[in-house]
Amino acid sequence: MHIYSEQETALKKSVALLKEAQQLTHIGNWEIDLDTEACLWSDEMYRIFGVSRKTYSPHFQKTLEHLVPEDRTWVEEVFQRSFHEGGNFQIYFRIERPSGEVREVHCIGNTDLNVPDVMRRAFGTIQDVTEQKRTQDALRDNERKFRALIENGGDIISIHDADGVMNYQSPSLKRWLGYEAEEVLGLPVGKFIHADYQEILHINYQAILAHPHTPVTFETAFRHKEGSWEYFECTGTNLLDDPTIGGIVFNARNITERKQVEEQLRHNALFDPLTSLSNRARLLDHLEHHLSFKLRHPESSYAVLFLDLDRFKVVNDSLGHHVGDLLLHHVARRLEQCVRTSDIVSRLGGDEFVVLMTDTHDLAEAISVADRILHDLARPFEVEGHEIFTSASIGVVLDEPVTSTPRYTNALSVLRDADAAMYRAKSSGKSRYEIFNEEIHAEALAQHHLENMLRKAVNLAQKGTTEFFLLHQPIVSLQTERIVGFESLVRWQQPERGLIPPNDFIPVAEETGLILPLGNWILAEACQHMRDWKLNCQSEELECLDFTLSINISGRQLSADHFAVQLATVLQETGLDPAALKIEITESALVENGEKALLALHECRKLGVKISLDDFGTGYSSLSYLHRFPIDLLKIDRSFINRLVQDADGLAIVSAIINLASSLNIEVVAEGVETREQQERLTELGCQYGQGYLWSRPIDKEASWALLVDSLCR
Ligand code: C2E
Ligand code: MG
Ligand code: MG
Repeated sequence: MHIYSEQETALKKSVALLKEAQQLTHIGNWEIDLDTEACLWSDEMYRIFGVSRKTYSPHFQKTLEHLVPEDRTWVEEVFQRSFHEGGNFQIYFRIERPSGEVREVHCIGNTDLNVPDVMRRAFGTIQDVTEQKRTQDALRDNERKFRALIENGGDIISIHDADGVMNYQSPSLKRWLGYEAEEVLGLPVGKFIHADYQEILHINYQAILAHPHTPVTFETAFRHKEGSWEYFECTGTNLLDDPTIGGIVFNARNITERKQVEEQLRHNALFDPLTSLSNRARLLDHLEHHLSFKLRHPESSYAVLFLDLDRFKVVNDSLGHHVGDLLLHHVARRLEQCVRTSDIVSRLGGDEFVVLMTDTHDLAEAISVADRILHDLARPFEVEGHEIFTSASIGVVLDEPVTSTPRYTNALSVLRDADAAMYRAKSSGKSRYEIFNEEIHAEALAQHHLENMLRKAVNLAQKGTTEFFLLHQPIVSLQTERIVGFESLVRWQQPERGLIPPNDFIPVAEETGLILPLGNWILAEACQHMRDWKLNCQSEELECLDFTLSINISGRQLSADHFAVQLATVLQETGLDPAALKIEITESALVENGEKALLALHECRKLGVKISLDDFGTGYSSLSYLHRFPIDLLKIDRSFINRLVQDADGLAIVSAIINLASSLNIEVVAEGVETREQQERLTELGCQYGQGYLWSRPIDKEASWALLVDSLCR
């Protein structure tokens, strides 16, 4: 039995420990005899090379063959240099195990030349670092990816310290804000933030500091190097306690474009795109605000000026929408100059503007502004080479200082009253202002009441029971005084109010659109009367002259869709000859309904229906309409016939109209002829036809028939 000495035991133990250590760290050691190039390997060396100690005897040249081909030459050179010159080396290379598996190794070597020749040897270690290398490579890869993300990504990444001093900025800073990272590092971020956002920054910074690891998101505006402001959505996370970061990490996304769109949307919601004035919504908002302010401060006051351009439609129709739009724009600028900057000038739409004057002291102040507006708008506008004259009608509401309850509690009522006052200004001559008062209030109420009654009456008429009826007034030949036709005139027998004349309810019907169903009823009823008369002629075997029936058509009817189709239908249903029918249109109806009216007139003409221009001389008095529109007949307004006898001017005008008409092959009817003198004068001037109390007031269907028979049989 072999007894180990104590030393032997210790040695064995340390050899075993060394083996274990080598196995754990994958380090093997080697030695090369420089004379024979034979190698001496530790166990771990065999494991690293994947060969067995039993079958493999290591030798330097043979070992080299285990290297991957690319590494063989240079590794051998390193070894040889060390063999000959001595000294240490450290290299990494790859070996290929017999199984084909490639391992990465770290080799440390040394050659000791300061020994006798027989002892010359090289020695060193080889560590299998394959796993380590893989992890390192993966880490490096990751790091590269993150860097690429941060440096090329859309967001700006920055790291601040607890005081907001910037310690890191990703290169994308340059792209969004124009700064190189170095220009801002070391500076507090607050230096670059817009004044409006300082408070937000401060509050959010406190929140970030108070809650580590919790992302906090907020918006901010950062100054671009060029001076503009860029908006960012920032998310900050407090990683001050994270040793690798040690700061607050911010991720900032540029949202300038989104902000601009939002701003645009907000602007669109509150401002009129054409004039850039406040729109209706913004006006109402401010008005509401003032109403509630007045509730709390009854001693305060405000004024509302409701403004509508006079004859804007004429500009639009004659010069085109483009010029119309430009005019509105210019009007807006002038209005702004008439008021204080604290007042709100708004456009409700179309040619309606409203000025809200806040803190008005008295009525005189509101009136002086209205005066100034009227005065300033009276100066011509220069639009695309056109000199345009315009004016406005203004309705004023003043909510004066009161001690008791305020007059208005709702913005819409203020506007409604200002509108009513404007309406009054319009109907009493335009280019003026009117202050809302009790009378206008009563009138507006009455108007409202009338509107309701009219709606009911029109409904009833459509169902067959009607409060409306037609009268007819004959039109006669001035020379023979024979009846050449009738004009149908509508009447309204209102059960409570009695007989209401058309001048009182036709404008309301036009405004409300009720004229469309009412007009249809009138058209059908008139044609029915005409057909009955024609049938009477046949049954009584009267040698019927071709008398015609004239029906008044409002502009609104003409510009509605399919007017001519409706007309054709009624003609067909009643079997009337279209040549027996005339439609009467006023100048203003033509002007205000533009191209659509013109088109409808041409269609009516195609049907064979003739067209009369009613009340000629009262509206726009532009003789050019006679050329532009297809007119067969012209009715001189009764105001001219009135002046015919007493006043030379009246005579001249009527004479001129008649001459012009005859040169255009247009027939002329004089309206409102009441005296023989008028009749004679008109005949002298060459006017063919007349209509008026001189021959007959408007009379009902039966009376009209009797008159017709009388006239025919004379
Ligand atoms: P208009 O079409 O110019 O009709 C002529 C108006 O002058 C009628 O008034 C008639 O009664 C009146 N008149 C006729 N001769 C004389 C006269 O010698 N002296 C005086 N002072 N007046 C005379 P009316 O019936 O009150 O109609 C007023 C207006 O209402 C009409 O003016 C017309 O614009 C409109 N209107 C009447 N009926 C209708 C209708 O069925 N549809 C439409 N859209 N409008 C109608
Ligand atoms: Mg008429
Ligand atoms: Mg007339």
